[in-house]
Amino acid sequence: LPVQFQAALPILETIQAAGFEAYFVGGSVRDTLLGLPIHDVDIASSAYPQEIKALFQKTVDTGIEHGTVMVLDHGQGYEITTFRTESTYQDFRRPDKVEFVRSLEEDLKRRDLTINALAMDAQGQIVDLFHGLEDLDAQVIRAVGDASERFHEDALRMMRAVRFASQLDFSLEAETAQAIAVNAPLLEKIAVERIHVEWIKLMLGKNPARGLASLVATKLYQFCPSFAKQAPVFDRLTQLELQLDDEAQVWTLLAYLMDLDVKQTNMLLRQWKSSKDLMGQVVTALTALRAITQNSVDQFVLYATGPKGLATASQVAVQLGFKIDLKQLQASYAALPIKSKKDLAVDGGILIKEAGIKPGPGLGKILAFLEKEVLLGRLLNEKTTLLAALATK
Ligand code: ATP
Ligand code: MG
Repeated sequence: LPVQFQAALPILETIQAAGFEAYFVGGSVRDTLLGLPIHDVDIASSAYPQEIKALFQKTVDTGIEHGTVMVLDHGQGYEITTFRTESTYQDFRRPDKVEFVRSLEEDLKRRDLTINALAMDAQGQIVDLFHGLEDLDAQVIRAVGDASERFHEDALRMMRAVRFASQLDFSLEAETAQAIAVNAPLLEKIAVERIHVEWIKLMLGKNPARGLASLVATKLYQFCPSFAKQAPVFDRLTQLELQLDDEAQVWTLLAYLMDLDVKQTNMLLRQWKSSKDLMGQVVTALTALRAITQNSVDQFVLYATGPKGLATASQVAVQLGFKIDLKQLQASYAALPIKSKKDLAVDGGILIKEAGIKPGPGLGKILAFLEKEVLLGRLLNEKTTLLAALATK
């Protein structure tokens, strides 16, 4: 048993001693069997939330209406979810109401993929009702039960299937792929935020080309926000051997391939319900990427982009087949006389007090002029030099 599971064993044992069943479930079991690192240990139990709360000193109601209680143990949190079925699906979305049940089988049946429907007990015994172990072995992504039915219940599962194909570098089983092709339009019923999570995990997976190939083959991408008419972009994407490190890189690449300007890029990111912070990062990196690919990187581009944006743009440029010397770019950046307006040896206050300049729009223009001259190395960044330059102007 991996250490994370060992640490959680007393919790399983406490639940069992009270006469209930408890198992490790979901991603942690799958990843353990694959020898991958696990992030969070999820536990499923026949005990109802109130019964769990009665068993432990410290609990938090993280999702009690869905049957989830978090148990705090030695500074660790463990989510314990009551066995449940999701019987009342409406509009192809995950239901709001869940029904608690006492049987593990019912709980595993409502899970999305066979490799995600494995349970492990305190002794390390695996419960595998849907040949999930075989599929892990054969590296196959397969829906639990009738794929088409399962995608009707919750259309996000199609996106998850493709995401796991990329993340684990597994292949999509034929019937599951076929069911995605048939039901792809149902994805439009799903909240953008949920699609977003899967899309980014797909793009940052072990083999994005594989997930992308499935997105294209099933046409599922056409039902993602703003991708409907992007067939050429997706064809291009599938041909790249992508190795991206973060979300900013994903969107910078997309915006570049979609040939978007700043306004359109912001619109794309808004449609995907991205944060303002991410929008800023992407727009900055995109501008730098264009300069890099057009060989027009100068002091102004370096200055406006900053080290983080340069790293993002360079990584994306490499994906597109450009030969980039990031070290060189970073050295040029480091050699800039100033890194921001704050570094300028004068500011508005000094100009008003010591150069007799009046507050107003003219002041901003003068500061911008000094900033430019310093950046180009035409003026030293010293107060006396800058004030003298203004006096002779
Ligand atoms: P990750 O490593 O990305 O967290 P995970 O498999 O743990 O992968 P979660 O989203 O954390 O994914 O979900 C935990 C488990 O809940 C899954 O393994 C699966 O059994 C089940 N599950 C999650 N989403 C769905 C869904 N939309 N439909 C059915 N079962 C789901
Ligand atoms: Mg998880």
